[in-house]
Order: sequence, then C-alpha cells, then structure tokens
Amino acid sequence: MNLNTLHRSANALAQSFVAMPSRATPSAKAAQAAATQADPRWAAVVARSAAADGRFWYSVQTTGVYCRPSCAARAPRPENVRFHASCAEAEAAGFRPCQRCRPQQPTALSHHAALVTEACRLIESAAANGAPTLGALAAQVGLSASHLHRIFKQATGLTPKAYAAAQRAQRLRSALGEQPTASVTDAIYGAGYQSSSRFYEQSAQVLGMTPSHYRAGGAAQDIRFAIGQCSLGAILVAQSARGICAILLGDDADTLARDLQDRFAHANLIGGDAAFETLVAQVVAFVEAPGLGLHLPLDVRGTAFQQRVWQALQTIPAGQTASYAEVAQRIGAPTAVRAVAQACAANALAVAIPCHRVVKSDGALSGYRWGVERKRALLTRESATEPAQQRAEKVA
Ligand SMILES: [Zn+2]
Repeated sequence: MNLNTLHRSANALAQSFVAMPSRATPSAKAAQAAATQADPRWAAVVARSAAADGRFWYSVQTTGVYCRPSCAARAPRPENVRFHASCAEAEAAGFRPCQRCRPQQPTALSHHAALVTEACRLIESAAANGAPTLGALAAQVGLSASHLHRIFKQATGLTPKAYAAAQRAQRLRSALGEQPTASVTDAIYGAGYQSSSRFYEQSAQVLGMTPSHYRAGGAAQDIRFAIGQCSLGAILVAQSARGICAILLGDDADTLARDLQDRFAHANLIGGDAAFETLVAQVVAFVEAPGLGLHLPLDVRGTAFQQRVWQALQTIPAGQTASYAEVAQRIGAPTAVRAVAQACAANALAVAIPCHRVVKSDGALSGYRWGVERKRALLTRESATEPAQQRAEKVA
C-alpha cells in the first residue's frame, strides 16, 4: 500500500466513523458547525487558550468526552462541539472527563496560586532555621526549581529569595519592636539571620538604620501601595510581605490614602513602582469580574472571629447573597448577627472578601463600607452574569 492509498483509506475510515454515530442530517450538521464557529468560545478552543480554562468546558459528541479549552488533544470538528458552563453540566449531558486534560481538576492558574501560597507559608514557617533553598522549596511543593521560580515571581512580583529576605526583615522588625525585653542579638537570630555579624553588615539595607536605632523608633513594616481607577471609582491596592493586605474603594485618592494610613498606622507606606502596577492591574481586573477569582496570596488581618466571618464570606459564590443571620449560622454563632455585620464593615479587602454579598434577611442591601451604590453595582453585575458563559464570551 503506498502512502496515497493509505491516506485515502484513512480518510474514508474517518468519514464513515463520523457519519455512523451521528443521526444529524447534513444540513443540521452544517448549521451546528456554523453555530459553533460563530460562538466566541470556539476561538478559545482553537487557540487552546489556558486563560479560558475554568470559564467554560466543551464536549465532543463523537468521542463522548469533555475537555477544558486548553486541552492539547487534536482539535475537534466544530459540528461535534457543544459548550458547557460547568463540568457538572457536561456530565449531566452524558460526557466523561477527558483523560488528557482532566477538566474537572483545578485550572493551572488557580493551581499555581495554591502552590505559590504554599511556598510562601513554607518560607514563613521556616523562620528561625533560615529560609529553605529554592530546590528544597520546589521539592516540597512538587515542582522543578525553575518552574517554581517563574510562577512565584509571576504571582508575587518577588523571587522566593527576595520574599524570604523580606520575611526575615519583617520578623526582625517585629521582634525589635514588640519584645523590648529580648536582646538585639536574640532578635537577629530569632528572625533567621545565620550570624549576627553578617546581619550587621546588611542592617542598613534591611532596616535603613542599625537595630538599636530601629528599636528606639518602634516597629514598622513596608507596605507598598498604588491608587488607580476602576469602573467603581478610585481603588487602592496595598501589599505587605505576606500578600495583598488592602483593597479599598472610594470616590477620591486622598480619602483612600488616609484610610490606608489609619488601618496600618505603624507601617512604612511606600508608593508602588512599575512592577507593582502589574499587580494592581490584576486586582482591578478581578474587581471588574469577581467570578474570575484573584490568584494572589492575601494577607488577611483580623481577630479570630473576624477571620471566621471572612472565610464564610469567601464561600458565597459570585451571583449569590447571604443574610447576616445566615453567615452567623454558618460560623456556628447564630446569635452574633451584629458582630457579623461589624466584621463585614471591618473588612479591608473589598471584593476579595466579598462582604458585598451579605444583605439583610429581607433582601435589603443594608450598608457597605465603600458605599451602598457600589454594593448595588457589584451585585447587579454579578447577578446579571450567567456565570461562566458570559465571562468566556468577554475573554474570547
Ligand atoms: Zn481534553
């Protein structure tokens, strides 16, 4: 058999295979192909767009499987493709998850964010023993060193080494400021510096002054911030060494900057540089479309009770609301309705901790730390969105 014959019989085989299971008439097939090609999600499938992962899924009638948009498998024929807003929807329609792209597992993006967060916490908890090496860190989260380095820098704007250095400096500042009885040397070792002489060589860089001077001036931590504009007005984004520590919304930049100063009275507030703008852009994109999720580590500060409330809020999906009483129930403190409302008002991470999704029991909007009109706008936007589907159309 020469190559041409082989090619022809393979074609014939492919055609009979496609024709057999399909009950559709040729014109119905053409119509379906046209409908698929007209759908903006088709372009994302053809491009194998990882950015579209998690926003929709597609099934292939001839194979009976469904895939995520970035699936590396051979591109399907448009007449055999259907789009789904969720894995559950695809499975309800009778499709199995693809073995290759494993569409029911978290997307690479949110998976990366989880790994980076894990790496951050490993660096933080290594404290007194000094920072783990990149290799050790990578082994612990199950990635190659270069891969971890890349996704870490993407998510935090810092290399793991720079992050560890920032943590160490932070710990030292805390130790010097908060435990006035500890010796400066103990504080230096406690913060994870290997030898105090080495630390003194670096101290001007780390603290901007010698440790004793620093102690006299009290503890301070660096918080970088920038103020931009989004569809809801002015937005301030701030980041500590641990992660995003504030997302504030308001009418004007000055009020936001003052609010930040009040919330972090002892911090060194530093205007963000060009690299920081990238991070702000990510947060703004998230505020504009909260259903996409914010794939950055958060530095959530509050009492144990506030943290419980905020965790409960993070389980309310975009497009849904809960009442203060329901949130109180969920955290096992059904009588603490007023305290729940106060915790919502104390939230420093607008949208990331979605306190706008909490309403009165009768459905009335009630208050919002950043203005009830912004709350209304956010809820209207989220409820109008047929979750995954419309988002995918915006992206494609
Ligand atoms: Zn697949």
